[in-house]
Amino acid sequence: MAGVIRRLDEAVVNRIAAGEVIQRPANAIKEMIENCLDAKSTSIQVVVKEGGLKLIQVQDNGCGIRKEDLDIVCERFTTSKLQKFEDLASIATYGFRGEALASISHVAHVTVTTKTADAKCAYRATYSDGKIKAPPKPCAGNQGTQITVEDLFYNVNTRRKALKNPNEEYAKILEVVSRYAIHNSGISFSVKKQGDTVSDVRTLSNASTVDNIRSIFGNAVSRELIEVGCEDASLAFKMKGYITNANYSVKKCIFLLFINHRLVESAALRKAIETVYAAYLPKSTHPFLYLSLEIAPQNVDVNVHPTKHEVHFLHEDSILERVQQHVESKLLGSNSSRMYFTQTLLPGADCSSSEVVKSAANSSVVTKGTSDKVYAHQMVRTDSREQKLDAFLQPVNNPLSTGPSEATTEVNAGPPEGSVRPQDAEMEDVSDLVEMADVQDTVMPGRLSESGRLSPETVPPRKRPREDVDVEMEKDDTRKDMTAACTPRRRIINLTSVLTLQEEISNQAHANLQEMLHDHSFVGCVSPQWALAQYQTKLYLLNTTKLSQELFYQILIYDFANFGVLRLSEGNLIGLPLLIDNYVPPMEGLPIFILRLATEVNWDEEKECFESLSKELAMFYSIRKQYIIDEANLTNSQNEDSDSGSTTWKWTVEHVLYKAFRTHLLPPKRFTEDGNILQLANLPDLYKVFERC
Ligand code: ADP
Ligand code: MG
Repeated sequence: MAGVIRRLDEAVVNRIAAGEVIQRPANAIKEMIENCLDAKSTSIQVVVKEGGLKLIQVQDNGCGIRKEDLDIVCERFTTSKLQKFEDLASIATYGFRGEALASISHVAHVTVTTKTADAKCAYRATYSDGKIKAPPKPCAGNQGTQITVEDLFYNVNTRRKALKNPNEEYAKILEVVSRYAIHNSGISFSVKKQGDTVSDVRTLSNASTVDNIRSIFGNAVSRELIEVGCEDASLAFKMKGYITNANYSVKKCIFLLFINHRLVESAALRKAIETVYAAYLPKSTHPFLYLSLEIAPQNVDVNVHPTKHEVHFLHEDSILERVQQHVESKLLGSNSSRMYFTQTLLPGADCSSSEVVKSAANSSVVTKGTSDKVYAHQMVRTDSREQKLDAFLQPVNNPLSTGPSEATTEVNAGPPEGSVRPQDAEMEDVSDLVEMADVQDTVMPGRLSESGRLSPETVPPRKRPREDVDVEMEKDDTRKDMTAACTPRRRIINLTSVLTLQEEISNQAHANLQEMLHDHSFVGCVSPQWALAQYQTKLYLLNTTKLSQELFYQILIYDFANFGVLRLSEGNLIGLPLLIDNYVPPMEGLPIFILRLATEVNWDEEKECFESLSKELAMFYSIRKQYIIDEANLTNSQNEDSDSGSTTWKWTVEHVLYKAFRTHLLPPKRFTEDGNILQLANLPDLYKVFERC
């Protein structure tokens, strides 16, 4: 049986149309905020009750509405923003259809209180189904507009029933307002529930975009932000915003997108950007993005349905590609800051990072004895040939190149040919002293173990440099005479000044760093100043210059008055202290060192004197860039392959300095903070990277 077709009542038609425009309280609030912004407000305050279903009140300090316009303000297609169809092409304001207030008034009770700058007082009017109910009444009020929307959907049963969770609606309102707040820094926003004294979202007019992101999304997001910005005249678009770097990832993508200052959605743009991030973030995690696109108005399809947030624009593919390229370049560029953030992650260094928390959790498991299981990602793969970085860099046919197997033999054989030391220096033993290697520890009982901090189980007691000789070397009598390796009887030092300086060093020692240095695997030299070392599952970059300086200072203080002599053959200076075997300070630093002895050393106070003298010596002895030039000149004068110069300093760094760091350096705590020891990577994180490939 065919039904009878009837014309719908006009009020019902309007209500249905309004229900499509305003689907939930957050839609109404978005429209109202856009009106406030169009009215040049600098302060926008939102108060709601029951998720906006009972009450929405939006107050601004904008231009206000003229009294004579109040009659028709809620009628459909009334607007102060558009007159001709052509104006659509250059529309700069949010609203242009005059549809929002009309729609709201068809599904709620609307009250407008407003005052323009030149009006003597404010006026108030209430509306129903688009019509003003009574002439506007004069009342008190500040410049601006307050619009109250009560009992939303009172006359649309189905809609009211669909929105029965006020909390959900309130969350949606907070989302909309906070996004507009971020996009409109310079304008203060607040949202609160009626009766509450504290706002749930609140931004200040002097806050920056990043400040607003911080106050709304928190520090975890704001500290990882990269500023983005690009434009392309041929595509007639501009983009700016903030996106998170590769350090930050969340389960759900947060994407704040504004096109021509309207909060919109673009599935295509979201997908394009997420494709870029996929290469940087762990699987199924996402970034935070805030982007503001300005596209020539004539290219944007603005005449879409108000609730249709999804936008489309001309040259969409080309614009997406430009945005992708820009985001990619920014993410790549942020790698350095990413490294910076992990730099402080040293073993046991105080750090609130989750990474450290994790490893602490692991160790507590071990101490409880509940599980000794070592997972694959905690294990370290070691190559039987102990291949170093050099093996990949050196030409194969270079006679002086230290191949993997050669390198290991050379550890015991001493420095390679032609690399020994400057010609004008020779080693000499302290001749009047008798060898008493075995009794050393009785003479100076447990020097470093005096510091109660270092447990002898985990960290071996510090040994004197000259005790630390390879077996082969001890057998080799001639070499022994050439170096300070033979151990003379030790002078006992009871000077309070020196003992205090020793205590200061041991008090500053960082046990975990010491353990790391003791057990590291040397990876290779980056430069004379920097070298790479691995410890457990982590890769470290170490400042060899600074570590060697500290090493020499500590040797000077701990072996005070017990040095060998590095004898110089010419001039008035006959010798320098021999601090470790096979190491000669960069001699070109000698003049400046002598000069500084006069200007930098405090010769009046005992302790200060020893300290400053040792500091100057340590600086002079430390390995520096100059060391290489010096050695290269030396090798050139011997008509050797210029490559051997670099072989020499690398050999010295690995087999003399880093070897000494293992046992003779008490790394001070400051090395965990001053960038002299940096963690570059750790295996579990690398696994995560490979997982993505
Ligand atoms: P549109 O924004 O598309 O013009 P609306 O229905 O949103 O349509 O608003 C109708 C008119 O009411 C606006 O053109 C504007 O003149 C006026 N208006 C609405 N809200 C405000 C406000 N907060 N401050 C000043 N004028 C307002
Ligand atoms: Mg509007």
